[in-house]
Amino acid sequence: MAAKYIFVTGGVTSSLGKGIISASLAKLLQGRGYSVTIQKFDPYINVDPGTLNPYEHGECYVTNDGAETDLDLGHYERFLNVPTSQANNVTTGRIYQTVINKEREGAYLGKTVQIIPHVTDEIKRRMMLLGESGEFEIVITEIGGTVGDIESLPYIETVRQLKWELGSSALVIHLTLIPYLSAAGELKTKPTQHSVKTMLELGVQPDVLVCRTERSLSTDLRRKVALFCNVNVNAVIESIDAETIYDVPLMMYKEQLDKVVLNKLKLPLRQEPELELWKAFLGKLKNPIHEVRIGLVGKYVELKDAYKSIAEAFIHAGVANECKVRLEWIHSEKIDEDNVASKLGHLQGVLVAPGFGDRGIEGKITAIRFVRENNIPFLGICLGMQCAVIEFARNVLGWKDAHSTEMNPNTKHPVIDFMESQKKITAKGGTMRLGEYGCQLEKGSKAYQVYGKSRIGERHRHRYEFNNKFLKDFTEAGLIPSGTNPDNGLVEIVEAKNHPWFVGVQFHPEYKSTVENPHPLFVRFVKAAMEKAKVEVAVRV
Ligand code: GLN
Repeated sequence: MAAKYIFVTGGVTSSLGKGIISASLAKLLQGRGYSVTIQKFDPYINVDPGTLNPYEHGECYVTNDGAETDLDLGHYERFLNVPTSQANNVTTGRIYQTVINKEREGAYLGKTVQIIPHVTDEIKRRMMLLGESGEFEIVITEIGGTVGDIESLPYIETVRQLKWELGSSALVIHLTLIPYLSAAGELKTKPTQHSVKTMLELGVQPDVLVCRTERSLSTDLRRKVALFCNVNVNAVIESIDAETIYDVPLMMYKEQLDKVVLNKLKLPLRQEPELELWKAFLGKLKNPIHEVRIGLVGKYVELKDAYKSIAEAFIHAGVANECKVRLEWIHSEKIDEDNVASKLGHLQGVLVAPGFGDRGIEGKITAIRFVRENNIPFLGICLGMQCAVIEFARNVLGWKDAHSTEMNPNTKHPVIDFMESQKKITAKGGTMRLGEYGCQLEKGSKAYQVYGKSRIGERHRHRYEFNNKFLKDFTEAGLIPSGTNPDNGLVEIVEAKNHPWFVGVQFHPEYKSTVENPHPLFVRFVKAAMEKAKVEVAVRV
């Protein structure tokens, strides 16, 4: 059977949660037994978000096949428990790059290359790609940006064409805002009316409106929106602010979004959505038995989206331990030797985050020394692991100038160094060590206990590596390589011998944590923090 297509557009403002609505709908459809995938089309000119500063666009999410993608793909994976790939995230930059390359190859010889049809044809080709693979019954396509933006015009035009071509096999969900004006004491529908009008001017009639709101929508208000926007009353869906994003699938179920969509696509309802695991997860999330405080040390902490997958992985791991994880966001630039005890002393665990460049690096190293010397559970991710290696070299091995060549190319102790394969590369986009690589775990290590097996695969995004020239010194002094790449011997995990829980990983475990499969490293790290909390209580009593 040919795939059905759902397009999700946004109106009025950005940040209404298109990604969460798309993922929630997908979850419900998946729960009814449909194979579903979600893809995101982003209207910016970067070929991928890998070159964007996290302050601009939040975290860059990495897939198994090494695509650097929008953070919404993280939500798709966390909700659906199905991996995404490069095909799930396309930008205007990538579309134009393909069209221009084809033009140079002579694919359009004799023709003037134009937005319509050449750019829109390329968008269309990519929008249909996953649907044509035969793997999915339903493809949800989220269009980034807000309707009316210059950048999104070619996408909306493509949706118009596809809707015409596919008939009842395609539908459009438009996500809008119904603001509450406290001075008038009323919910206002006008911005939604205008947004739908903009869609109509572009030739697209939305089939379903998902209305983001702070207050409940009355039947009268739903009727009014339906009347002005040419949609059925039951297709005016309320999306009220939620306590947690994990509530949204159930809220959408209550609003019958899945039913409305399946009816419009002329698909059978099959069964009531299978959501038992999801509900059990929510029950535990809302009723934790334990509590721990964990510090997240990073340099982008002002923008929580910069560490989205880490924060979500802690939620999953907390639930697995029936424990509320209170994250304290600590700016690495603000940590120094004088204040480190007051900033970290009360915590039961500290995670040092990934990152690039030397801003805040000394604060990270100071934090790691403190947790190593004070037996506070530690997890270092990517740059966080590299900082752990630097700290150990400086303060245990006594190599005061030890550093990564990313920060100090002239150090005599380059304990973290450029990989051989990276040395000749000068371009910055898509050139890191990216995607999933195998890792062999040392029997008897903490890492082995965590995973319960000796062979794992984890996702990477970095240029620098542990320098194996110094491996013997580290091992003898008590920082053990407990995971290595079986193909090239690169160190992927280090752990400290004489410490309750001190683990640094060169890869990004956070990308693989989902509601159904909380990541074992985070689960075990939270457990170590809980054990520390228990000891603290015992000491106090
Ligand atoms: N900047 C470091 C590198 O490129 C770490 C990258 C990261 O933390 N993702 O190796």
